[in-house]
Parts: sequence; C-alpha cells; structure tokens
Amino acid sequence: MRAKISVISMGGTLCIGYDVEAGAPACTREFLGVMSRLHVARGAPCTLFVRGQTLEKNARQIKEIVGNPLFDLQQHTYSHLIFKRIECDTGKKHEVYGKDESIVTIKKDVEKANDVFRKKLGISPIGMTTPYAFHRGLLDRPDILAVLHGAGIRFLRSWGRNEKGYTPVPLDVQPFFYDEQGFPDMLECPVNGWQDCIFRDDHGWKARWDQTFIADLDQVARRGEYIALCQHDWSSIREDPEMEMTAAIIDHALASGVRIISYKALYDEKLQGRG
Ligand SMILES: [Zn+2]
Repeated sequence: MRAKISVISMGGTLCIGYDVEAGAPACTREFLGVMSRLHVARGAPCTLFVRGQTLEKNARQIKEIVGNPLFDLQQHTYSHLIFKRIECDTGKKHEVYGKDESIVTIKKDVEKANDVFRKKLGISPIGMTTPYAFHRGLLDRPDILAVLHGAGIRFLRSWGRNEKGYTPVPLDVQPFFYDEQGFPDMLECPVNGWQDCIFRDDHGWKARWDQTFIADLDQVARRGEYIALCQHDWSSIREDPEMEMTAAIIDHALASGVRIISYKALYDEKLQGRG
C-alpha cells in the first residue's frame, strides 16, 4: 500500500503574525529581508506587530514594505511593556514576568507606539500583540481594554498562555469579541498552540518546529477553524537563517487549501460577520 500523502484539501484559516522587537537593528533587518522574499514569492500575507523602539531604529527598512498588501503593520507597544504580572509554570521551573502596570503607564506606552507609527510610517495601528501575552487575554481587565480602545486598537493577540501561564494554548481557543467587557468591536485573536520561541527554547533550536505546527494546523483545518502562527524577528532566523521552517509551514498550508489572511483581514471579516 502506498504511503498516505499528508496533503489533503481542508478548510481553516491561518494568520501569521511576527513580533518585530529585536534590540539589534542587524537582526531585524536580516529578518525583514528573508521574511519579505519568502512571503512575496508565495503571495502569502502576514501581520508584523512592531515594537515602537524597534521601528525607530529600522524605520527606513520597514517603510519599504508599507503599501504592499501582503504586509499588515500593527503595534507591539513602544517599549515591550508587560501589562500584567504573569506566573509561569514550565513544568521544569516557576517564573514570574512583569508586574501589574498602572493604567497611566500602559496608556503612555501604547500611545507612544502610535506616535512613532504615525511619524515614521504615516499609519495608525488598529491591532496589537501584547508582550508576553496572558492566560485568557484581557478578559479580566476592561480597564486596559478601555485604554487600548481609546488608542484606536480594535484587535488583539493577548491570549497566548494556558492555565499554567505557559504554552501551548488549547487549539479550541478561537477568536472572540470582548462583548461582556463592553467592547463589542474589539476582537481577541488568541495565539493558540505554541509560540515558536517557547517551543524551540524548550525542544532545542534545531528541533522541527514546523512539523509540530503543521500537525496542529491540520487538526484545526479539519474543523475549518483558525490557528495563529506566532513568530518573532529574532527567533525566526535563529538556527534557520533562510526561514526554511516557516516556508515549509506556508507551503503546507497553501497545498492543503488552508487560507492565509492577515489579522487585519480577519478582523474586518469577523466584524462584517456580526452584521
Ligand atoms: Zn514581544
């Protein structure tokens, strides 16, 4: 009997989001070059969630992709501020990240990122990945949602941890609007499954991240649901300078009939779906 071919026609939606946040400009620039070639060659859209301080250092390079419909540019705060204290149980150790920041501090940081976007790129972000992300996103913090909404943010990737404060997030955690918190036009786009850097740090940087992701992608696609690919500038090119694993993921999605759309497109679609 012939080996079963793994590529079958499926539904499902893949949103690819890169957190662009490196401190070293050389790293961000190398990533931008490899990433843009890879996406352009495949006609695959993505969203870049850019930290304000990283944008300041790489404005000319990032400006080169502004206006290209394949690249949706959104923000990742100005300074990589962690909004809430996170307790994380990795199974090997217990870690604490960040602290509960004041609303004033959060507002300043998010608005400063918007200012840098307007000044350097002439665009106003409506989407954000919250640094580190949380278990259950911002369901417990309507006060933070209010600040983000006031700053023009309409979609978020803020649910990126499970009940242990770690990953993976169950795949059945799907996009939802923050209705009960009073923001029916704010969409949470959870980072379900693993994040690249957490998986690769845990399993080794040469481990086949793409295979793990593809197994999750197939599972979600069979149900016609959504999955997030969360990568970073620095992690995408670490031990994989040509981003071959990312290319394998995109190629698999395209061959399987999984559609790839930006987070902005997902938001527009979900909002329209509300009627
Ligand atoms: Zn980040």
